[in-house]
Amino acid sequence: MVNKWSKIIQNLVGFCKSSIDNTCHICYQTNTNNTEICDTCCQWLPWLREACQHCAYPLVDALLCGACLGKRHDLDHLKALFRYERPIKQFLLNLKFQQKLYPARLFAQYFLAHFEPNFCMDAIIAVPLAKERLKARGYNQSIEIAKGLSKQLAIPLYTDVLYKERDTKSQSDLNKQQREHNLKYTDFKLSSSFSGKRVLLIDDVYTTGTTLRCVAKQLKAQGVEYVEAWVICRSL
Ligand SMILES: [Zn+2]
Ligand SMILES: [Zn+2]
Repeated sequence: MVNKWSKIIQNLVGFCKSSIDNTCHICYQTNTNNTEICDTCCQWLPWLREACQHCAYPLVDALLCGACLGKRHDLDHLKALFRYERPIKQFLLNLKFQQKLYPARLFAQYFLAHFEPNFCMDAIIAVPLAKERLKARGYNQSIEIAKGLSKQLAIPLYTDVLYKERDTKSQSDLNKQQREHNLKYTDFKLSSSFSGKRVLLIDDVYTTGTTLRCVAKQLKAQGVEYVEAWVICRSL
């Protein structure tokens, strides 16, 4: 009897999964490309194409924006897939606040399709959440995205080596100046040595860049040789 019911439930789950997998999450038409968004809708996403190598500000025919020129950068390279606009913004909100994990798989696929690590990377590390936020949400969305990448790129994912020692206010409620005062690079700690290694950081949204710059600065202070970051969105 138990077997019968478990088989029925399995079939039902399989049916629901295939229904979801075959439907585009934007136009709700049947989708055959094995992602959550069909090829037609994919073309209309707010792709960020050419951008500054350090802050992902949109540029044409230039590597660095005026603000990044001539400055020292602990973050060696930043790559962002999208501008922080709908519908990607909604997918990210679903991932962060609605307990819906399908965008993590989608974003990992887009990362793999559009970016390649600049050098052979030794480790993938997701930017940590504040303890309170992690406890409330139950998962770190950046780790969920990084899991798929780690598997496909065959680069180990370290989920608990970087942590925030001090609980700070949420960065999203603060302006640029407040963010820089709120967070210090020493707030992030690294529990393993990555000295001489090349690290790929994963984060969801780049707004002022304070968090990623602090993390990169701490990694460099601990002897990391090269830090690259991939983010889903650049807020403009
Ligand atoms: Zn579609
Ligand atoms: Zn820049």
